[in-house]
Amino acid sequence: MGSIRVVASWLVWPGLLLAFLWAFGETQCRGLNPGLSLLALTVAHLGVIAVLEVLMPARRDWDWRKDGQVLNDLVHGALLDVGARLGGAALTAAIAVAAAQLTASAPLVIWPSAWPLWAQVALAVIIFDFVDYWKHRAYHAFGWAWPIHALHHNPDRMHVFKAGRLHFLEAAVRALITSAPLVIMGAPPAVLFWVAALANGIGDQNHWNLAARVPRVLDALIATPNAHWLHHARDLSARAANFSTFTMVFDHLFGTFRRQPADRVLDVGIEFDPIPRNLIGQIATPLAWPWLSARKRRAATYETARS
Ligand SMILES: [Zn+2]
Ligand SMILES: [Zn+2]
Repeated sequence: MGSIRVVASWLVWPGLLLAFLWAFGETQCRGLNPGLSLLALTVAHLGVIAVLEVLMPARRDWDWRKDGQVLNDLVHGALLDVGARLGGAALTAAIAVAAAQLTASAPLVIWPSAWPLWAQVALAVIIFDFVDYWKHRAYHAFGWAWPIHALHHNPDRMHVFKAGRLHFLEAAVRALITSAPLVIMGAPPAVLFWVAALANGIGDQNHWNLAARVPRVLDALIATPNAHWLHHARDLSARAANFSTFTMVFDHLFGTFRRQPADRVLDVGIEFDPIPRNLIGQIATPLAWPWLSARKRRAATYETARS
């Protein structure tokens, strides 16, 4: 039994990721709707991971079955689609306005459409990574931007349902800013869907609670679970690291790559957490941040005075 566990722990990360991407490729070879295919495969992928987390968790205290926030995580995950549509519509409108002012046709159509699909996807991944790296770093660097991203960091555990725990405004900003260079350059929908498939596959996995073994060398090359768990560390100095979505190229270039300690996984969460437990409060968080922060500080002062 022990050896089966060891083999499973080595196979689960590459096996699931490759199976997810292969399945998406199959749907596209058969001419199925890419958006619906990706949605169905993502739900199936999350379901398989949720079951595996029960069988081989990385940390028992991260068990999703004992987390009162799972329902909220699922609603936030469902709202991401609304956010992405809002951001996409805003991007389309912005391009139309810019094109009208320049009296040029949009998009620019400088995308190398003659390249093989894999090469176009690789180029798109690097461009996406660069923009997303700085957008993500800005969320952590600027107090006015943090309230949009804080919901993703406030859980004290990692598990499969945390992958979609993002405020819907984050999805809107991502669709507006991170996709902008690709859309403006005229990247075809097939490339954008492959980038989305990679983002879903990797994103689902790097928030999971699975005792998966990944060669440590890969932590330095791509956004593995180990690398991303560290980004969620409660320790602020550890958290200012590993911002990348796909590759660690820009974390290395801009000096923010860090390694998780080899012998343990650091606790996750945030120290100053004014975010309410209820769904409506969480949705209102970016707007209500000053008021929520003041309330949290008053409560902390009261606690200190009592003790
Ligand atoms: Zn972050
Ligand atoms: Zn994350």
